Amino acid sequence: MNTPWGYPDFDAHEVIHFIDQPEHGLKAIVAIHSTRLGPAAGGARFWHYADPAEALTDALRLSRGMSYKNAMAGLPLGGGKTVLLAPADRKKSPELLAAFGKAVDQLCGRYITAEDVGMSVSDMVEVSRQTKFVAGLPNDGKDVGGDPGPHTSLGVFLGLKAAVKRGLGKDSVNGLRIALQGAGSVATGVAMHAAAEGAKLSIADVDQAKAKKLADATGGTVADPAEILFLEADVVSPCALGAILNEESISKLRTPIVAGGANNQLAGPADGAFLNERGILYAPDYVINAGGIINVCTEYLGDGDAALVRERINGIPQRLEQIWTESAATGRDPAAVADAMAQRLIGRG
Ligand code: NAD
Repeated sequence: MNTPWGYPDFDAHEVIHFIDQPEHGLKAIVAIHSTRLGPAAGGARFWHYADPAEALTDALRLSRGMSYKNAMAGLPLGGGKTVLLAPADRKKSPELLAAFGKAVDQLCGRYITAEDVGMSVSDMVEVSRQTKFVAGLPNDGKDVGGDPGPHTSLGVFLGLKAAVKRGLGKDSVNGLRIALQGAGSVATGVAMHAAAEGAKLSIADVDQAKAKKLADATGGTVADPAEILFLEADVVSPCALGAILNEESISKLRTPIVAGGANNQLAGPADGAFLNERGILYAPDYVINAGGIINVCTEYLGDGDAALVRERINGIPQRLEQIWTESAATGRDPAAVADAMAQRLIGRG
């Protein structure tokens, strides 16, 4: 990786804006990684960082991830991300949101923001009073836009089925054992789709009540959060946290397939290779979980209806197939193949 500025995560980002407006309580970094395919789109994260250098690292990594995700989803968008440095009490004022909206507006559409961790739909409504370069707003009952969760779930389920087809030669998840980590928004949709097709679900969430509610709704069983990844299962579907796949956890997996919606599942690049060495088929996270961004961006671009959202989500299993085929042909692990494919799409191959 090119590190001319001495930052290991700097990846020829096109431009990085540092915004410091103490009078409005706004301290933010807007990182634009690539606009090769269109305006750089990616959410704004509101987070308290003990060290501002961590905020820059996050902005650099997350913006690159958005370039890859948008490119692999076939969206006419580049990748960018904002990190808003929250105070220790994580208080967010209307002045801060307005100042952020104005800052986004000054970028004249080169960057499109949306919600991410720590930012709500209502925060984005505040931001949208200052700029039109915002996605992820309430959709007022229209069939595109609104909550991205169900769209992410649908894409994850279709990707999971593609993995089952490739890994187990089956057209359906009927009768298959799926171990689901998480019982939140994404996991709930995945569980409902899988249960409707007859899968046997084991569900774990640190919030036991959520796991029980989802298990009751899907005829599944509640599992121990410490054990869920290591159950003997046809598919393990991580739909909660990132960085859960490391050398230790991968060595304990008892599944032929890992396909879930959580972001950044691999603790590091070597973990993708280790999964491959163990013969476990992996669905790269930013490819399988793109349904939400597809919905949000189709809303923003105004270039289509629910049918186009569905068509774009249907592209997820096709893209995964392409990755696995190249992985099988080259011996490179699917995560590395996906990264290389995304880089080619944004003209950096
Ligand atoms: P959510 O907050 O609705 O659900 C996450 C769930 O995980 C919560 O119920 C939480 O209690 C549970 N959890 C936390 N730690 C856990 C642990 N150690 N073991 C088991 N469960 C644990 O979030 P979500 O929107 O469903 O997102 C889930 C994952 O999918 C995240 O990694 C997110 O970044 C990713 N993702 C979400 C979307 C989307 O559209 N919502 C899109 C792309 C990626």
